[in-house]
Amino acid sequence: MPAESVSIAVVGGSVLVVLWLIFGVLPAILERPFKTASPADETLEHLNHPCHHAPTVSYTAAQAQRIMQRLIECDATACHAKAAAFRVLAEAGMVKPAKDLR
Ligand SMILES: [Zn+2]
Repeated sequence: MPAESVSIAVVGGSVLVVLWLIFGVLPAILERPFKTASPADETLEHLNHPCHHAPTVSYTAAQAQRIMQRLIECDATACHAKAAAFRVLAEAGMVKPAKDLR
């Protein structure tokens, strides 16, 4: 009889642990918010992957003006196409850079 009560205690304890895992731990894991990228991570990602690639051949001044208008939302420090267009316009004396872009 004592052996039988020990196995009942072991099985009952195991069932309680499984129930605790299913109804206590699992919901807490599932409801944990997913890790979202912080603004700092997004900035680094943006710097590593330029939104527009630099041209293989240098822009003309007219092309550079169109590029600057089309990429008005881009950051010239991260967008290689806009930086190249800005450089062409600066060399042509059509814009005066407030600060040096590399
Ligand atoms: Zn861009």
